[in-house]
Amino acid sequence: MSLPRFQSKALGESQSAPRLHVVTFGCQMNKYDSLSVEGKFRRQGWQTTDAIDEADVVLFNTCSVREHAEERVFSWVGELRKAKERKPGMVVGVMGCMAERLGEEIYGRSPVVDLVVGTRSFQHLPALVDELLERRAASPTRTPRITRLGFDEEPDAGGRQGEPYTGGRHAYLTVMRGCDLNCTFCVVPKVRGRVLSRGIDELVDEARWMIDSGAQVLTLLGQTVNSWGEDLAAPAEGEARFRGRQGRPALADLIYRLQELDGLERLRLITLHPSYVTPALAQALRDCDKCDRFLPLPAQSGSDDVLRRMKRGYTTDLYRKRVEILREHCPDIELGTDWIVGFPGETDDDFAATERFLAEQRFLVNYVFQYSPRPDTAADALVDDVPADVKRERNNRLLALGESVALARLREKLGLEVPVFVEEPHEKHAGVLRARTHTGISVSLKGDASLAGTTQRVLVEDCTPYGLAGSLASEVAKRPDEH
Ligand code: SF4
Repeated sequence: MSLPRFQSKALGESQSAPRLHVVTFGCQMNKYDSLSVEGKFRRQGWQTTDAIDEADVVLFNTCSVREHAEERVFSWVGELRKAKERKPGMVVGVMGCMAERLGEEIYGRSPVVDLVVGTRSFQHLPALVDELLERRAASPTRTPRITRLGFDEEPDAGGRQGEPYTGGRHAYLTVMRGCDLNCTFCVVPKVRGRVLSRGIDELVDEARWMIDSGAQVLTLLGQTVNSWGEDLAAPAEGEARFRGRQGRPALADLIYRLQELDGLERLRLITLHPSYVTPALAQALRDCDKCDRFLPLPAQSGSDDVLRRMKRGYTTDLYRKRVEILREHCPDIELGTDWIVGFPGETDDDFAATERFLAEQRFLVNYVFQYSPRPDTAADALVDDVPADVKRERNNRLLALGESVALARLREKLGLEVPVFVEEPHEKHAGVLRARTHTGISVSLKGDASLAGTTQRVLVEDCTPYGLAGSLASEVAKRPDEH
C-alpha cells in the first residue's frame, strides 16, 4: 500500500522550519479540525508538507463511526514504521474520535504512535509536541508518550485564532461540538461529548472574516446543527430574547444574522436532526434567500420499531410532521437522508417500511450504510442478527430505489430554467463548470471559468440520479429564488 498523500496545501515554504503532515479521515468536521491544527502549528513557525515521510510530525485525524475507518487508520499508521526507523526523530500522533474512544490502547496496536490526543484537546498539539521532544531529549533511551483526552475543556474557537480557513470560495464554520442525543448505533456522544455551542457574535465575526478573505459559500457544521444554541444561557430579565427555547439563541437567529453579511452568496447546513426542526427554522429558510433549501435530515429507517431500538427520538409520523413544517414555509425544500439497513432485529417488513418511506418522502439524496456493531455503543449489546448477505441485498435495493426516486424528481426539471450558483470549473473536463441550485441539486454546464462565483440561469437539458446538466440561459443578478 502506498503512503497516504497530504490533504492540505503546503504553505510558508522555509527550509529550516519543522514540517507537519496531517492525514484526515471521516467527516467535514474532522477536515475543519485538521485545518485548525495546521493553523496552530503554522503560527508557531511550522510549515506543512505533502511528503509524509519527510515530515517531522505526522498526525492522523481519525473517525470511529465505522470499524472499517479505524482499521484503515491502523493500516496507514503501520506504514510509517519504516519511515520512523529512517528518521527516529519523527513524531506520530493520533487525534480525533478514535483517540478519544481507544485512548492508550492505540499504543498497543501501533507502537510507532507517540501522541494520542482527543477531540477537544487538539488545540494543545503544538505544546504537546514540544513537551514530547523535551522528554525525548532528557531521556534519549526511553520512548516517552503523551495522552490527552476528555471533555473538560472548552471547544477550540477555531476561526481567527486557529486559522482553519485558508482561503478559497468555500468555508466551513463549526458552530458546535458534541451531541446530546444517544442513538444506540452511534459512537459520537462517547467520543465528542455533550453539545457545546459557540456564541453567536463570535460566529458572525468569524464568518465576516472568512468572507472578507474570499469565502462566498459558508457551510455551518454540527452533529445536530439545528440544535445549536440549546445549551447556551437563556437571556436574563430585560435582555434581548432570541427564537430558541426560553429565549435562547437558535439556528434561525444565526441564519438571519449571516444573511445580512455582504459578500456571502450561499449558506449551507450540515447535519440536521428531525427533533430540532422548528417553525422558526422553517421561517428563517423562507426569509433568507442565501440559505440553501436543501437539508440533510437523516431518517435512518422507515420502521417505527427499528427507530425505537435506534433511540432516534422520533417516529415516522413525527418525521413527516417536521417535514410538513418545512414544506409549509418552503414548498421547494429538498431533503437528503442516511439509512442504516440490517440494524438488529430488522425484519423484511421493517425494510419494506423503509422502502415505502423513501418513496413517500421522495428524498433527493440517499446514503445507505449496512449496520455493523461498534464497541462503546448501546446497540453493541443487541444481537447482530441480520445476515451479511441480507444486509448487502437490502443495501443494493435501497440504493437502486433511491436512484430511481431521485431520477424521477430530476426529470421533472428537464426543460426548466433554474438559477444556479457556479462553484468551480470541473477538475477533469475543460470548459465544464460545476454549479448548484439553491435547493442543493448539483448541475454541470458548459461555460467559462470566469463565471465561477456568480449566479446564472441554466436551461436543464439532461439529468442522472445525481444531478442535472444544462446550458447557460442568462445571467441573474441576485436572488436565486426569483424565477
Ligand atoms: S444525533 Fe444520533 S447519530 Fe447523530 S451524532 Fe447524535 S447520537 Fe450520533
